Amino acid sequence: MTAIGFIGLGVMGGPMAAHLVRAGFDVTGFNRSPAKVQRLVAAGGRGAASAAAAAEGADVVVTMLPDSPDVEAVLLGAGGVLDVLAPGTVVVDMSTIRPDVARSLADAGAALGVGVLDAPVSGGEQGAVDATLSIMVGGDAAAFEAARPVFDALGRTVVHVGPPGAGQTVKAANQLIVAGTLQLVAEALVFLDAHGVDRSRALEVLAGGLAGSAVLDRKAAAMVAHDFTPGFRVDLHHKDLGIVTAAARDAGVAIPAGSLAATLMAALRAQGHGDLDHGALLLLVEQLSSP
Ligand code: NAD
Repeated sequence: MTAIGFIGLGVMGGPMAAHLVRAGFDVTGFNRSPAKVQRLVAAGGRGAASAAAAAEGADVVVTMLPDSPDVEAVLLGAGGVLDVLAPGTVVVDMSTIRPDVARSLADAGAALGVGVLDAPVSGGEQGAVDATLSIMVGGDAAAFEAARPVFDALGRTVVHVGPPGAGQTVKAANQLIVAGTLQLVAEALVFLDAHGVDRSRALEVLAGGLAGSAVLDRKAAAMVAHDFTPGFRVDLHHKDLGIVTAAARDAGVAIPAGSLAATLMAALRAQGHGDLDHGALLLLVEQLSSP
């Protein structure tokens, strides 16, 4: 049995850690708010009082935290996780963070003989609950093979996409596609409604043609119902589009539609909708055509 330290037991990390317990791993979890640790304990895991305590003695440490500064603080901070790990341990950061930060974490780990993989996920809360996530992994090939049983317990599509940071770069591309598609789905819904067409029937036929997509399948019905319960919060997608636009600028490539989607997501957040599901882009599109 492999011992796993799991840090960050939120919307995604909670169900992921519980799947690892079910798969037979010895999982010790830590979260900033203790109630979430208790949920893991109720599911058969162990609780720890700090990130370092969860990581100590682990073969694999998984982090599932909101943003780059959170992962840096947990791994690199004073009394952080890297301080307590034995050489040969593998750290798998499954949060969505900046690719350049993922590269610097891999360098810091390599100096200690610790493999650090960036392994962000796609598939949302449902994918975490169903263990059907897509997992895009950057980093050392041997560390990837060592962590493979962990990935197989959490996801359906697991691909080693390249060196450190490559996983986060692919995730940024994922978020670019999802934001742009959501925006166009929102525009199509307003357009159909303005013409008096039944949107549910329209969606049924659109889903079967070239306009069909996972975004259309999983998001459009809730958008029609104006149900913006997250799901994936606007705040997090705003964070991710910041990563996308900065990484595009670093690489010297223009992403005009993506930049527009990033601006619209920022506007939605500025209007106080950061806690809604990102399908709430529909609210902005509706406003643009309202008296
Ligand atoms: P979340 O806010 O629900 O969970 C993050 C957890 O980390 C919280 O429980 C928080 O208390 C904890 N935390 C924060 N700082 C901590 C620290 N220093 N030490 C210990 N615990 C700490 O977020 P989430 O939705 O689970 O997302 C996590 C990551 O996964 C993000 O990077 C997000 O972009 C990404 N992601 C989310 C989804 C989704 O649909 N929610 C999908 C794919 C990827």
